[in-house]
Amino acid sequence: MTPAWLQPVTTAVRQAYDAQRLPHAVLIHETAGAGGDWLAQWLTQLVLCSDLGAAPCGTCVSCQRCQVQQHPDARILQLQEDAQQLKIEQVRELIAELALTSHQGGYKVGVILQAERLNRFAANALLKTLEEPPANTLLILVTHTPSLLPATIRSRCQKLFIPAPDRPASLTWLEQQHGSGPWDTLLTIFGERPMLVAKVDGELACRLATEVDQALTALSVGKADPLFLAEQWQRNHLDLRIRCFENWLTKQIRGLATSHLSGEAIRLRLCKLFDLMDGVRELKASLETSINKSLALESVLRRFGDC
Ligand SMILES: [Zn+2]
Repeated sequence: MTPAWLQPVTTAVRQAYDAQRLPHAVLIHETAGAGGDWLAQWLTQLVLCSDLGAAPCGTCVSCQRCQVQQHPDARILQLQEDAQQLKIEQVRELIAELALTSHQGGYKVGVILQAERLNRFAANALLKTLEEPPANTLLILVTHTPSLLPATIRSRCQKLFIPAPDRPASLTWLEQQHGSGPWDTLLTIFGERPMLVAKVDGELACRLATEVDQALTALSVGKADPLFLAEQWQRNHLDLRIRCFENWLTKQIRGLATSHLSGEAIRLRLCKLFDLMDGVRELKASLETSINKSLALESVLRRFGDC
């Protein structure tokens, strides 16, 4: 079933397909976790489905093969385990695959997930295929940050934008697809990213969010040790804990709007909270490279006592 916030884009694409105006390359610009991968699969099924009138029907052999990523005419390129970049060898393999005759006699589809991770050489290799694509080829690039892709790539793709859904639309889709769950809490933790939320360990995320809330509340009144917390947090799920840290700060900042504190006290508190927010964002940005995460985390947590 098509999520409500994706219906305008799927309708437009379906019309273009019916009118035989489907471009050979599309760039899906998604709010991360709001359905870029879903739309890429929908598009793949659209052009490979054997039921032209109902494509993508979701039930024919082609659609089913696409759903389990086993269709011989569709190939997905994504980050290899532990890799930070999509490499030129991967792009070359994809291009070679697309140049072969299709098994079904129709489209060949190449999907590139997290396309912003294409390194310079890989992007250059892809450019040639975008300039002179083989007939009946559909290239689908998915990214949440198109500005990280070379302009030469962006300009050769038709853009499809996926907006972040609102909370009711996310909740409706999650309940329809996955039954009841702590969806509202999880969307608060992860933001309006229902496709991501559907995949996370909900129980763990809710438990960690509560733990982090309690720890930071204790720390803010001097009843917790930043060193101990930093050591505890960096042992596991640090990304998630930092996300919860950010959410806790946002909640505190919003709470000040209804607080009974004096103007000056609110100003001081806001300064402190924004300083912490800066620290958390720097920490997040450095997570991929930081050698001593514990130290970086400890230095942010120590800021609680600075003001
Ligand atoms: Zn089908």
